[in-house]
Amino acid sequence: MDKEQVKTELFELNQKLNQWAKEYYEKDTPTVEDAEYDQVYRQLVTLEEAHPELVSSDSITQRIGGEVSTGFTKVQHQIPMMSLGNAFNKEDLINFDKRIKKLTDIPLEYMVELKIDGLAINLRYENGKFMQGATRGDGTIGEDITNNLNTVKSIPKKLAEPLTIDVRGECYMPKKSFIALNEKREEAGENVFANPRNAAAGSLRQLDSKVTAERNLSTFIYNIADTDNFMMTTQSDSLDKLDELGLKTNHQRKLCASIEEVWEYIESLLDQRHELDYEIDGIVIKVNDFNAQQEIGFTVKAPKWAIAYKFPAEEAETIVRDIEWTV
Ligand code: NAD
Repeated sequence: MDKEQVKTELFELNQKLNQWAKEYYEKDTPTVEDAEYDQVYRQLVTLEEAHPELVSSDSITQRIGGEVSTGFTKVQHQIPMMSLGNAFNKEDLINFDKRIKKLTDIPLEYMVELKIDGLAINLRYENGKFMQGATRGDGTIGEDITNNLNTVKSIPKKLAEPLTIDVRGECYMPKKSFIALNEKREEAGENVFANPRNAAAGSLRQLDSKVTAERNLSTFIYNIADTDNFMMTTQSDSLDKLDELGLKTNHQRKLCASIEEVWEYIESLLDQRHELDYEIDGIVIKVNDFNAQQEIGFTVKAPKWAIAYKFPAEEAETIVRDIEWTV
């Protein structure tokens, strides 16, 4: 391909991905499956890596999420809410391990967590009281969905300690709630939701919180945004702290001493994941030690010290086909 052809290809891939991203992030109505999106995104990354001088600053690889809806008050995140890089096989994980070991001398352990398929949220507590909940939005500015999150039972109104703290996690729709909701909608002659992620996102970004309250959403919290303020030194300690505070974390997690151990754990989860009562779209692998995280650093859109392993396409097939997509 000559330079002009590469430019055209980059433009076309971006155009396609931008269209899908808009449908997914802003309208909560995706028209292609995640595996297809991921495959085209990877094609773009590979082409950009081969031609770094042609990477445009407004490429989709350089930004996070979608635009914030005008229906909600905007919230500025004090610490950006980022995306995650992807791995699709064992080799990608081995390369990730090699890559980051060049950036730090600290011996690495990995915290392996389920990647919950819902909507990322930030919860702000002041003196232990739930004050504000927001979506990730474009990573810097999110949408204020406090009223809607106030209806989610797993989110405590008060923490076990009077802390001022920002915590992050995923708001999701359990499979049972999703099935019941779609049955009800079908009976009422309404369009059904395509998958639990779509249903959760549509339910959270409702202007009427009574609708959200009826949707039986739940949460898993996986991160303290401002760990420096709490003398935390590892991801495993911060997950334990979240538990102590009364926030619901996912206990299906494992601290692994090597990337080989991470892979063994992933393999053990491949079959188990269908038995969970919520959907996951992968496994997240995070460097456990915060000092090492700091040394390893970030790209423009994701931490370099973490990666999301995405399930193979044939296994990722959970979307109900041939139905009308809706919010
Ligand atoms: P991502 O969803 O791949 O990863 C980042 C997100 O993972 C975080 O924002 C967080 O919400 C979530 N997460 C869940 N469990 C977590 C845990 N334990 N620890 C940390 N984070 C956790 O990244 P993204 O940038 O939000 O979206 C990209 C993905 O979205 C694509 O890979 C694709 O699968 C999907 N997508 C699909 C379409 C489509 O049209 N089907 C369009 C755009 C994006």
